[in-house]
Amino acid sequence: MTHMQLAPQVEEADEWRTAQRQFDIAADILHLEPQIRPILREVQREFTCHFPVEMDDGSTRIFTGYRVQHNIVRGPAKGGIRYHPAVSLDEVKALAMWMTWKCAVVNIPFGGAKGGVVVDPRTMSSREVERMTRRFATEISVLIGPDRDIPAPDINTDGQIMAWIMDTISMHEGYSVTACVTGKPVDVGGSLGRVEATGRGVMICTLDALHHLGMHAENTRVSVQGFGNVGSVSATLLERARCKIVAISDEYGGIHAPDGLNVADVKAYRVANGSLSGYPGATELASDGTLTVDCDVLIPAAIGNQLTSHNAGDVRASVIVEGANGPTTPEADEIFNRNGVFLVPDILANAGGVTASYFEWVQDLQSFFWSEDEVNERLHSIMQRAFGEVLETAQERHLPMRMAAYCQAVSRVAAATRDRGLYP
Ligand code: NAD
Repeated sequence: MTHMQLAPQVEEADEWRTAQRQFDIAADILHLEPQIRPILREVQREFTCHFPVEMDDGSTRIFTGYRVQHNIVRGPAKGGIRYHPAVSLDEVKALAMWMTWKCAVVNIPFGGAKGGVVVDPRTMSSREVERMTRRFATEISVLIGPDRDIPAPDINTDGQIMAWIMDTISMHEGYSVTACVTGKPVDVGGSLGRVEATGRGVMICTLDALHHLGMHAENTRVSVQGFGNVGSVSATLLERARCKIVAISDEYGGIHAPDGLNVADVKAYRVANGSLSGYPGATELASDGTLTVDCDVLIPAAIGNQLTSHNAGDVRASVIVEGANGPTTPEADEIFNRNGVFLVPDILANAGGVTASYFEWVQDLQSFFWSEDEVNERLHSIMQRAFGEVLETAQERHLPMRMAAYCQAVSRVAAATRDRGLYP
């Protein structure tokens, strides 16, 4: 029996275990000293709240939310807020740790945090979501703030929700605290280019990976799982770069067209019909059908734990660019490494979002705003520099890209920890 068969599915799908295992491998490679290792292996602060919200029918419902700060040694904590029924403390801890590494990979002065509420907001009215958001913002106001911890959008949260959080914190303080969240609408201190930044970073990493592998963007066949912010922007920008988007899926199902889909048309169809089902001229797929469809580049841009020991051997793409956080389990990673798949890891591939969030925070603090071209140019140069540094580490140390990115990140955070010393 192989190691893979021994690993129970439920354990393999535990994000916190994945995050700690990935860290352990990097710490071993770096020979990280025993004084630093346990500090970085654990989260610094974890906060759980249970809070009441009045529903439209007059009833009161209790929600559970979390905010976790993994590490703040390089600067204020930074990380999104997720609204999803599967949110758990362990998932939020893993996502917070990944944020620390992500900020360090692109070398921006933030630590890592993440938050979430256990909820499916699509079952609620907009007024209910607003009341829940404002109350959750109040609960986590003991932790967040421009110098301390700065939330941003993630799954099922967007600019409107960030605006409500910003307004709530501002009402408490008595003045506008724009820099307390990022991913806000532009008219309340948001940055031009922020909404597209994660997908833009995915596009930049994909093109850099193709260039490194001697492949051309033109007619490269791309499959995208998840058609929300990250997936739809990645697909749109890669289509613009002349790739062929052959498959797209969301949580309700997917579509496949070997000759290429028109992404704008698919988007319009989904808005009009509520799902991709019945899209003309395409074959229907399951939500996870996009992962194993015939293609050159796979972009998982939905949720975690999509590529596991159960399906990694069936992946036909030679390049994977992780738009989502934690889409690949360590068991699947081993299979990809064995099969020679070139994988650009989440902490690099989707770092465009937090990089543009950093730009937004800087602009808010200075009350001096940049043009969209300036944002995109700076994003491009940071993403390309980070991709180049990780690739160089991968080549020098003979490591897969994930471990190369980890080595870059963990050594930066470890250096800052060493410099600051142990308090008291
Ligand atoms: P979103 O809510 O805008 O979109 C999520 C998409 O995934 C939706 O299309 C949804 O239908 C789809 N989906 C959900 N479950 C699915 C399933 N089982 N199979 C197929 N599709 C499924 O969220 P987003 O902001 O695009 O985030 C997507 C991923 O990218 C998440 O892992 C998130 O943590 C990560 N991420 C987002 C940002 C950002 O700036 N928004 C930044 C970095 C990383």
